[in-house]
Amino acid sequence: MATYNALLYYKFVGIDDTAAVAENQRTLCLQLNLRGRILVASEGINGTLSGTDEACRRYTEAMYADVRFSDMVFKTDEVDGHVFDDLSVKVKTELVTFRCDRPGDPASHTGQRLSPEQWLNFMERGDAIIIDGRTGYEYDVGHFRGAIRPPVDSFRDFPQWIRETFAEDKHRPILTYCTGGIRCEKLTSFLLEEGFSDVYQLDGGIVTYGKDPVTKGAKWDGTCYVFDQRLTVPINHTDDRRVVGACHHCGEPTERYVNCANIDCHRQHLTCSACEATFKRSCSPACMEAPRREPI
Ligand SMILES: [Zn+2]
Ligand SMILES: [Zn+2]
Repeated sequence: MATYNALLYYKFVGIDDTAAVAENQRTLCLQLNLRGRILVASEGINGTLSGTDEACRRYTEAMYADVRFSDMVFKTDEVDGHVFDDLSVKVKTELVTFRCDRPGDPASHTGQRLSPEQWLNFMERGDAIIIDGRTGYEYDVGHFRGAIRPPVDSFRDFPQWIRETFAEDKHRPILTYCTGGIRCEKLTSFLLEEGFSDVYQLDGGIVTYGKDPVTKGAKWDGTCYVFDQRLTVPINHTDDRRVVGACHHCGEPTERYVNCANIDCHRQHLTCSACEATFKRSCSPACMEAPRREPI
């Protein structure tokens, strides 16, 4: 049986021919039977894909052959099979929708990158503000110990929240982290633009931190939300590990994210296995009775 990999990558680099790059990407992925999501913008490229070992190897080689992507960093996970249903390649105006009036320039000006080990040491100093660069529901299933939960459902709400919350903290050290690093490029660029003077980002994001042999994912509580069929992946491989998620129905600790079985809802929610059975994997009583339901 073929082994499968999941790839995650991004790079901020000027792309003039976005439509042509997207078309090439689509052709290449179809040839290699890769599935997932690729975004192409004039500011760069961002992708997450799954496929066989061989297909992933050929894909990365094809990327390295393009001078713009020759130093691309690919994060790789072994997976049991495809973790996406299909392939989507899109041209967008921004890789991460931020729509800020002062977005900064992630290609040239971002927060200092910290390796996993530097990050852990900095966190343990205790004087930094640790901002989770993701949304509230991602934070809820797992986050760095001591990090602040952004009360936002969308990345585009960050600028307002930051202006309202941290106006007095412009000269304190700020640490930011996100899943694979791309949102921190935008976020730290924005923070510098706003006049924050001491800004750092976790290089390679949470998924890289979780694979680091020195830190072993230390001080990460819970699991890490990912945007594919796995829903969450483990990060902390030390003995000091805490569950932070709570069942949507009963509040008991759990890390099980599921999609609501009502096809017209499909809301992701945390549920313990007892409540999953009781509520037939539904997020609400109404969804339990919905006409179009997945078999469970
Ligand atoms: Zn429960
Ligand atoms: Zn539902």
